[in-house]
Amino acid sequence: MEYSAPGEREEQLRSRLQAILAESQSSHLQHRLAAAEITPATLQHTTDLTSVAILRKDELREIQAAAPPFGGLLGVPMSEIKRMFQSPGPIYDPQGPGADYWAWEAAFVAAGLNAGDRAIICFSFHLTPAGHMFDEGARALGCMTIPAGIGNQEQQIQTLAHSGATAYIGLPSYLNALLDKAAAQGVALALKNAFVSAEPLPQSLRVAIEARGINVQQGYGTADVGCIAYECAAKNGMHVRADMLVDICDTVTGLPLPAGEIGEVVVTPLNPVYPLVRFGTGDMSILSDAPCPCGRTTPRLLGIQGRLGQGMKVRGLFIYPHQLQVVFAGLPTVRTWSAVVTRVKHRDELKVLIAANKGDAELVRQVTDRLHTVLKLKCSVELVPSRNLLNPGQLRDERVWE
Ligand SMILES: [Zn+2]
Repeated sequence: MEYSAPGEREEQLRSRLQAILAESQSSHLQHRLAAAEITPATLQHTTDLTSVAILRKDELREIQAAAPPFGGLLGVPMSEIKRMFQSPGPIYDPQGPGADYWAWEAAFVAAGLNAGDRAIICFSFHLTPAGHMFDEGARALGCMTIPAGIGNQEQQIQTLAHSGATAYIGLPSYLNALLDKAAAQGVALALKNAFVSAEPLPQSLRVAIEARGINVQQGYGTADVGCIAYECAAKNGMHVRADMLVDICDTVTGLPLPAGEIGEVVVTPLNPVYPLVRFGTGDMSILSDAPCPCGRTTPRLLGIQGRLGQGMKVRGLFIYPHQLQVVFAGLPTVRTWSAVVTRVKHRDELKVLIAANKGDAELVRQVTDRLHTVLKLKCSVELVPSRNLLNPGQLRDERVWE
């Protein structure tokens, strides 16, 4: 389908969409379709779906909380779910039956991976779906995988060297850190390809990694829907996944925008298990329909140009201001707080400033531990006089990507 003529692809997508809408057991989806006055039988074209209001990622948390774990969003009985995960929010993510449920295999092929590659997966395998997601795609392609997770760099470098791993799948910043460490220890690695995701890939970082003889290509997706888009060897934007409807929508009207205009990435995965119709990712991008030298006919997303809404991605994980509010609500001695994310040596740093009625090193340690538990991220905490604390109660993004 990646190479199909656009008219042919539209026809395939429309008939799959029609079948999913007709058979879905999702009460939530049925309400949304009824509100938009859509019936599967009358659907003439996939664009008819644009009368359905966008379902925002920020809303998922509330919908699921009202009827945990999936809030009427599942399209199949719970007995068909293979695994379930919890992403920050919390938002619960299902994994349905079958191999490569999140459809990353095509992205790995585009990134130059092959059957027989030995791929180290440096994403978490605990609670959040990222590790399993990429592992399934690499296994579907015929790679041997090393489910390494994040952390334990010493053992990971040893495993990379002993296994002769040829491919890396993970955050680009984490790969850079591993390569620095391996070089400092004089350990030679056999890595040829890196597939990176979950954080921006600045050009300077791509150049730095490729200078070490490793080809770097990136992909884009979410815990909710899996793969959305990926780069081909031309590295001139990310082709949208062939079996998914991907629109760039006006953030006010919710309607699709023409190619070349910036808006929110809104997707409809043709997935009967979790039919998130018109799912607003909160990520901003631009679509290009210019032909690509690789021959794929799917349009391309020209990078992720920031976020709509309050969620912010730090080292590949979403964090929300309400999570910080929860932490500080349980610590009455902290009078006020402010958090800022910056970029230091190709790595995200989260710094939290606190002003307290009676503060000492013990309070700083307590705050650090609670933030780590709630956000699943290490951050630095600093006690400051309240007059020095600017933007109280806010989480700010001051990262510069260059
Ligand atoms: Zn291409």
